[in-house]
Amino acid sequence: MVESGSLNPPRRIVILGATGSIGASTLDVVARHPERYSVFALTANREVEKLARLCLRHAPRYAVVVEPGAAEKLRRLLEAARCPTEVLDGASALCEVARAPEADVVMSAIVGAAGLPPTLAAALAGKKILLANKEALVMAGALFMRAVRGGGARLLPIDSEHNAIFQSLPADYSGDPGRSGVRGILLTASGGPFRKTPREDLANVTPEQACAHPNWRMGRKISVDSATMMNKGLEVIEAHWLFNIPAENIQVVIHPQSVIHSLVQYVDGSVLAELGHPDMRTPIAQALAYPERIASGVEPLDLFAVAALHFERPDFDRFPCLGLAYQALREGESAPVALNAANEVAVRRFLEGHIGFLAIDLIVARVMEKMPVSRLDSLDDVFAADAAARRMAERIVDEIKQ
Ligand code: NAD
Ligand code: MG
Repeated sequence: MVESGSLNPPRRIVILGATGSIGASTLDVVARHPERYSVFALTANREVEKLARLCLRHAPRYAVVVEPGAAEKLRRLLEAARCPTEVLDGASALCEVARAPEADVVMSAIVGAAGLPPTLAAALAGKKILLANKEALVMAGALFMRAVRGGGARLLPIDSEHNAIFQSLPADYSGDPGRSGVRGILLTASGGPFRKTPREDLANVTPEQACAHPNWRMGRKISVDSATMMNKGLEVIEAHWLFNIPAENIQVVIHPQSVIHSLVQYVDGSVLAELGHPDMRTPIAQALAYPERIASGVEPLDLFAVAALHFERPDFDRFPCLGLAYQALREGESAPVALNAANEVAVRRFLEGHIGFLAIDLIVARVMEKMPVSRLDSLDDVFAADAAARRMAERIVDEIKQ
């Protein structure tokens, strides 16, 4: 249930992954509306100095760090600065703050599989969830959507494409595309930094080149995912679960300007879209205030400056990750878990300089080929499949390195 916007007392927000790129954009929007929002908890993996600065600036009740050694350091920093924020540590504390009765809104902006347990905790506790962590839906789509419904949570997409689709669907969209006259979704993709690079030239690209996204400033993992186009593949799966649209009705369109953030096609021929600058503060503000509108700090779009919009078909041969993601969605059950886990391992190892860029799709393809698809009845099943796929991916990395 979404409540009206006359907010007294202000809505209390938990930001999971506060030290990241989405965390920074969220805090920027929140700080523009102190009469509406207050920060209840901020979390980070281990970036203690940055988290300490955020605590001084935003005065949360709690700060959570996952790495055990990091908590002591954070406590010392906050004590020295006379900051009353209480420090909690460990992965279980992420779930504690996500389901705390005092929390109204949970921004899910941890990168990767680590975001799933606290996001699920927020769903079961009936929170308003702003979902940036697409990996949670990719890994556990059916379980997660069931938890959202069962817990009475409100799920609002932050990924710019999914936020655009949400805005372009009817306000009363119930997850039945036929009933709403929805024919399908056009998911736009910038094409990443290697949109025009021949495949043979991709062998030697560096992590810095892969992370140099033409339009968006993001964390390193999602930047590499954009370069391999795995990001779009993960988003196809994300769109399927969020809007209950079958894979064959989700089409990826390369749109290098990133001005149209995605489109919905209707049976009468209408196509609705959301446009704007590529700045994550827009979807964050939209979701935070929904159904109202608040300022986000983003300038209005100047169509004369944009001048032209271009569209291309994606190249499934140069970017095999996209096809692998469609395949995982069709296979269902543990297949997307294997896809995601293998990709997380491969991207980390690429960023650490252990494997080349082209090994990423190779590792994902091999893990998907070798791992039998298993049923997912519980979160334990999800994490068992995740662990098995990670072990397999690590073994393949070791083989490649030799
Ligand atoms: P980032 O790398 O900038 O930040 C990641 C955050 O997660 C940090 O706060 C980090 O401390 C925390 N974190 C990392 N590992 C953790 C762990 N094991 N346990 C707990 N916390 C951990 O990433 P980002 O770019 O902000 O992306 C966050 C999520 O949002 C990703 O799932 C990404 O796909 C999604 N997303 C990001 C953008 C964007 O513009 N950055 C756009 C759409 C979706
Ligand atoms: Mg996106």
